[in-house]
Amino acid sequence: MARVHECAAVVSVGDELVLGQTLDTNGRWMADRLLAAGVVVREHVTVGDDAARQAETMRRLASRVDVIVCSGGLGPTADDLTRLSLASAMGDELIADDVSMAQINAWYQARGRSVPPNAAVQALRPSRASALTNIHGSAPGLYAVLAEGCEVFCLPGPPREMKPMFEQHVMARLRPSPDRTVLTRVLHCFGIGESDLAARLGALMHRERNPKVGTTASEGVVSCRIRYEGPLRGEDAAEEIDKTEALVRRAAAPYVFGAEGQTLPGVVIEMLRDKGLTVGVVESCTGGMLGALLTEVPGSSAAFLGGLLTYSNEQKVSLAGVPRELLAEGGPGAVSAETAMAMARGGLARLGCDECLAITGIAGPGGGSEAKPVGTVWIALAGKGGREDCRRFLMGGDRGAIRDWSAKAALGMLRLHLAGAGDAPMLRQVSARP
Ligand code: AMP
Ligand code: MG
Repeated sequence: MARVHECAAVVSVGDELVLGQTLDTNGRWMADRLLAAGVVVREHVTVGDDAARQAETMRRLASRVDVIVCSGGLGPTADDLTRLSLASAMGDELIADDVSMAQINAWYQARGRSVPPNAAVQALRPSRASALTNIHGSAPGLYAVLAEGCEVFCLPGPPREMKPMFEQHVMARLRPSPDRTVLTRVLHCFGIGESDLAARLGALMHRERNPKVGTTASEGVVSCRIRYEGPLRGEDAAEEIDKTEALVRRAAAPYVFGAEGQTLPGVVIEMLRDKGLTVGVVESCTGGMLGALLTEVPGSSAAFLGGLLTYSNEQKVSLAGVPRELLAEGGPGAVSAETAMAMARGGLARLGCDECLAITGIAGPGGGSEAKPVGTVWIALAGKGGREDCRRFLMGGDRGAIRDWSAKAALGMLRLHLAGAGDAPMLRQVSARP
């Protein structure tokens, strides 16, 4: 059975997953691990606690992929049917596995618990399958080869049992094709919309291209996924990825802020630290969310000094030193370029930082007007070196989304300046005042 594993399918079992009551995190995790091992996942299937459907799923996938990895349905209760469905997919019968039974007994004994009567079910396996040891729980996994030569691994659902078993049993038995390399890289952009980015990428996104380039947008960040899949080995494949990465970076400049696990706040802190600069914040409608984003970064104290939370007009005056007349009847008002800039300048002077970001806006749902609709947000930046920028955005979505986007847009704006691209426009920006 020297067949190599080029492609795989991931099957997640459980009514709670199909009904949307539990998020399938196992599927995502396993696909990521399989890809890292050089085995491409072609399909994810989520199937309920129904033996016939599970068996039908396994049989269908067996003719399409080299490996199937299932999770869930190995418990001792009546809705745990994976053992049965595997036997059915194999045309096999269930027998008791003595080694598994001994391990299950030992597992309960070690915890000072008596073995429940239904535990014996977990020692059953199809006669031509083998059991996979589970040291973190009572349910053993299963391994079998289906008629088509497709190998099947069945692992328990709880992630803390599934993950170590995946590493121990699946990774050890994977045989990625030596003639095929799969290599991926992810670049992250902020400040540009997905369709704008796609237009800039143009032919780079053609589906026949190798490496392939795809985009995904999530919570304001647009990511470019580059994937090479082909016969080139190690360094040659990496070189192909490098070449495509350079083209993507050029097309998406100056909005690419990082790669792989890097985050926007993490990158901003790193850039500030590298330049020996500190940052402070003055927040109104975001109520501290910008400070929270910055402090999520371990080691943020190297660059983040702190902030002023100036929600009321009175606090804008007393804490940030905003001139009272800006907020008075007939003045530009709390949500204006003048006030945002005054907040940033005030913070710069009072917080003793090198760069200060200020946010003031209308998060809604009330408080909007024709001239200043809900979602109107001014973001200002003032720097010791004389740097000043002030932009008006029209954020979409509900109160939560508007606040979230505002905090991120402030970070994105500072990042553009630190990257030497302070004049680049940003997504949702409607005007700017230097
Ligand atoms: P099971 O092995 O099917 O009895 O699953 C036991 C528990 O593991 C479930 O109640 C879930 O909390 C968890 N679980 C099962 N499958 C998944 C999955 N695909 N993603 C995340 N958690 C899961
Ligand atoms: Mg279940």
